[in-house]
Amino acid sequence: MLITRFAPSPTGELHIGGARSALFVYLFAKNQGGKFLLRIDDTDRERYVLGASERIVESLTWLGIIPDNLTEIIVQSKRLDIYKKYALELIEKGHAYICVCDKEKQEEERKAQIAKRLPPMYGEHCRDLNIKSEEVVGKKYVIRMKMPKEGIIKFNDLIRGDIEFDSSLVDDQVLLKSDGFPTYHLATVVDDYEAGITHILRAEEWLSSTPKHIVLFNMFGLMFLNLPTYRKYLLLIALSFQKGMERQALLNIKILDILRKQLLIFLRCSAGILKMTEKFFPKMI
Ligand SMILES: [Zn+2]
Repeated sequence: MLITRFAPSPTGELHIGGARSALFVYLFAKNQGGKFLLRIDDTDRERYVLGASERIVESLTWLGIIPDNLTEIIVQSKRLDIYKKYALELIEKGHAYICVCDKEKQEEERKAQIAKRLPPMYGEHCRDLNIKSEEVVGKKYVIRMKMPKEGIIKFNDLIRGDIEFDSSLVDDQVLLKSDGFPTYHLATVVDDYEAGITHILRAEEWLSSTPKHIVLFNMFGLMFLNLPTYRKYLLLIALSFQKGMERQALLNIKILDILRKQLLIFLRCSAGILKMTEKFFPKMI
């Protein structure tokens, strides 16, 4: 069965761009008799806004976009032990390592690389040190993935076709941060795997992260088993009159009393999904 998900971050209200993404993913699933799951990606604690998760669910429901797991929404901050377990497993398999590099030093390194017009990448100082978790108890450290030094990472995007990345140009991405929270990359791959996601629909801005996710899926030993299909769509940028306008809060629109029907018409036109919307929202449109 086709299973897909919408995974917003609770950094504020659901905005127009987010609502459009949710509608797009929802219709993609429903049109093929699949499942539409909601997941709250709340691992970025610096941008986390209290109460935003509840309001996102409320806004989606108001739009008629009802997740199939409404009573069991996946919340990443409640799964920290699971992510750590997976990160440690990767260290054991030799696919990840503990990094104790100083943050400020890394920032200096990054600036120097940019000045030389090089892509900013971690210097891999700890990559071969084989630091054990017992050695860093009580100390600050992160866990990084060991990106393969050679080879081409290939995947197929349903819209863009075959895409290839040179593995040596992909950074040793941090998987587990020093605060114990996973990065987006680790959490999303673990959750997509555990929920059996078959299709990942997300905005084009995530294209450059996809090779890291493909390698992670492979590191977990899932190669060719259930690697999800990717489909990237354009962001709602051309439709906004000024930068950031697509992030207008949906709740504000509710306050302005714009009818749900009109909002859905706007969203479906912007996504080019007129027919599907008519089928799944017959009472609203
Ligand atoms: Zn390091």
